[in-house]
Amino acid sequence: MRIGIPAETIAGETRVAATPETIRKLLAKNHQVIVETGAGINSSIPDTAYQEAGARMGSAAEAFASDIVLKVRAPTETERPLMQSGTVLIGMLNPFDAENITKMAAQGLTAFSLEAAPRISRAQSLDVLSSQANIAGYKAVVMAADTYQRFMPMLMTAAGTVKAARVLIMGVGVAGLQAIATAKRLGAVIEASDVRPPVKEQVESLGAKFIDVPYETDEEREIAQGAGGYARPMPEAWMKRQAALVHERAKQADIIITTALIPGRKAPILISDDMVKSMKPGSVIVDMAVEQGGNCTLSEPGKTVTRYGVHIIGIPNLATFVAADASALYARNLLDFLNLILDEDNNLAINLEDEIVAATRMCANGEVFRK
Ligand code: NAD
Repeated sequence: MRIGIPAETIAGETRVAATPETIRKLLAKNHQVIVETGAGINSSIPDTAYQEAGARMGSAAEAFASDIVLKVRAPTETERPLMQSGTVLIGMLNPFDAENITKMAAQGLTAFSLEAAPRISRAQSLDVLSSQANIAGYKAVVMAADTYQRFMPMLMTAAGTVKAARVLIMGVGVAGLQAIATAKRLGAVIEASDVRPPVKEQVESLGAKFIDVPYETDEEREIAQGAGGYARPMPEAWMKRQAALVHERAKQADIIITTALIPGRKAPILISDDMVKSMKPGSVIVDMAVEQGGNCTLSEPGKTVTRYGVHIIGIPNLATFVAADASALYARNLLDFLNLILDEDNNLAINLEDEIVAATRMCANGEVFRK
């Protein structure tokens, strides 16, 4: 098969869908690989590294004119027409963007969006949400530490003692767990909150304190279990109790990292104007949910703003700031997915009995499958 790797053209997207490592593996299976010139440059992969791995470099049009196209982000209006009908496109295509999926279907593409993979053990090696959220959680803490004008660890010096920073993590999925681990390595004292009950044990095993918001009704308990590993919106009464507890913790916190998401919906509001007002001057909030509307009422997408003396970082897509490793992990996710849709002779074999293949297929033969 001919496999194309175009450069990403969306502003701020630094990642690339294949690395010399994954290209070597594709070539070993007798595929041809065409990489757009300069595609890896923002991920610290020069064209020469791709060439040494055996890839052919070409134009965007040549990369898109392939049997299989590997992308990071959904194709733009300019990119989509460069693909022929029948092309298999794999990437993070946003399963909730119905308009784009309809356009891809009209173009005759067979498109797979890996964010839609089910959260089952077999899908872990191709789970792009996890690979990228892990990196983003790390970067959120590093960015916060950079903006924060004090030490993270406790320090005892001849000139006196410096207290450890207090970090509050809201939402402990993949990104939140990595944020806890990273803040811990930097010596902070950490508290965390989430709606899902299994998170308490994970938080405590990383040496952080879990903020227990008790469930008062069976309905709350049932909703908190989530579905397929994901959270569902909690009832208003629970959210109020959580807000009251979080408000108290926010007053003490030096850094708050918010990561709370509910798939396909606006992110829940967890940090209100009043909470920001009550925080210490110089404290830092990183709102990782800013693209989904934000967990903090005062965060602004793409900006770092200072409100009531608190620095609020609303930079989206933090994995793009660790582009080399984000690309390396993402490219491996794609390679694992390819193994699911290619047979032993390396021909396409799209098996819809496979729940991962079925869940990630957005469109084919002009039909949209995403409900
Ligand atoms: P996510 O990015 O969808 O959400 C981030 C976190 O926000 C979640 O933990 C969620 O419970 C939390 N949240 C939502 N509303 C909240 C609120 N009001 N207050 C506080 N927190 C709130 O989640 P994710 O990182 O994609 O992971 C979700 C779960 O799926 C994790 O337990 C993860 O370990 C699991 N997972 C399983 C697999 C697998 O088995 N293949 C793969 C990846 C993740």
